[in-house]
Amino acid sequence: MCALSATTQPAARPTSGRPQLPPPPAPVAAGAHWWKPVTGTTEQRKRRQGKCLRYGCSNKAGAHKKFCPKHHHQAQKANDPISYIYSMRKQRAKQRGHEWTITLDNFRDWCEWTGYHQRTGRVTSALSIDRKDPAHGYHIWNIQPLAYGANSAKGQTAEPVYFDPDTQSFKRGTPPECPF
Ligand SMILES: [Zn+2]
Repeated sequence: MCALSATTQPAARPTSGRPQLPPPPAPVAAGAHWWKPVTGTTEQRKRRQGKCLRYGCSNKAGAHKKFCPKHHHQAQKANDPISYIYSMRKQRAKQRGHEWTITLDNFRDWCEWTGYHQRTGRVTSALSIDRKDPAHGYHIWNIQPLAYGANSAKGQTAEPVYFDPDTQSFKRGTPPECPF
């Protein structure tokens, strides 16, 4: 009857054991838009009203921005994760009264070298940015990735981790030579 019925049949349920959980959602590729786009007329109206262009959001858009602060950050995170991490860390450092001289280009190189951007957030393997000399601020020569929890500024045992491009793996200790 219906051509789709064969493909939309639910998988057979197991008759014993624990209930099967649905598969985890597929990871969103960098730069991909998973949100629902607004229609052209809605966009025109929202632009006129100075509202965030995200579907279903009626917050005020930032000055000269398409989105409200929440959705601006969401879009930045999806489009350019390293740039997003950079601005968050820079903002946090300045809030805490630390000096920050690292440029975005420097930070991109450093992320490439250390793999830091792949290990942020609430994961057990997360890395933090440690200042080698706590008397100084965040300068490219003064930062190193550290396994979370170990922080030399707090007087804990520092165990630096670095990414070895030759073996494409992380190693403990200090890199044999710094590329900067
Ligand atoms: Zn919004």
